[in-house]
Amino acid sequence: MKRKQIEIIDQMRLNGAKPTEIARRLSLSVNTVKSHIRRHPDIPNINKCLNCGKAVIQSEGRKQKKFCCNRCRSSYWNHNRKAAG
Ligand SMILES: [Zn+2]
Repeated sequence: MKRKQIEIIDQMRLNGAKPTEIARRLSLSVNTVKSHIRRHPDIPNINKCLNCGKAVIQSEGRKQKKFCCNRCRSSYWNHNRKAAG
């Protein structure tokens, strides 16, 4: 399995997708997806977006990501600025 596929599997798992849905999306067999999940019950390098709570996958060697997208980043900071007065 490719690293990118593993990232998508983990992302979809975190968002509550079933193995069958993940397999269909990636054109893999359900067994491949299920055995990956069995071998990796814990998802590494995962943060939750501070704004919407969606899973954010950390890329190795890069700066830690706190938001899933730029829109979440700016809405979080806008909100916090207002809350701070
Ligand atoms: Zn977000």
